[in-house]
Amino acid sequence: MSETNDTIFGKIIRKEIPADIVYEDNLALAFRDVNPQAPVHILVIPKQAIAKLSNADSQDHALMGHLLLTAKRVAEQVGLTNGYRVVINTGDDSGQTVDHLHLHILGGRPLTWPPG
Ligand code: 5GP
Repeated sequence: MSETNDTIFGKIIRKEIPADIVYEDNLALAFRDVNPQAPVHILVIPKQAIAKLSNADSQDHALMGHLLLTAKRVAEQVGLTNGYRVVINTGDDSGQTVDHLHLHILGGRPLTWPPG
């Protein structure tokens, strides 16, 4: 599968469309979800175009770690002291709707399990 930054998230990375950005570095960007499913709902994405987790490979090892630690950092930054959930939807059965790898950070209320 070819990787492309020609998605809505690519446009957010290039600042072609607005987003409520809460964190940015040279590898990753974090911004609030436009349709929040919890009081805090933030997406962490790599700037590199990777369509989904199942497309990542061993070359992406460090980047994958960076994204997880970025999620932790952002959760702390926005004050999620009572816990939070990190979710990666991957592929059709997961309901993934944007073909650019993203980690959902959900928090600010008790979350139920299992998800639907
Ligand atoms: P998925 O279902 O692929 O795991 O999650 C995609 C998420 O991206 C959804 O929660 C959706 O609300 C969010 N989203 C889609 N388009 C935009 C957008 O243009 N801006 C922002 N901030 N979030 C978006």
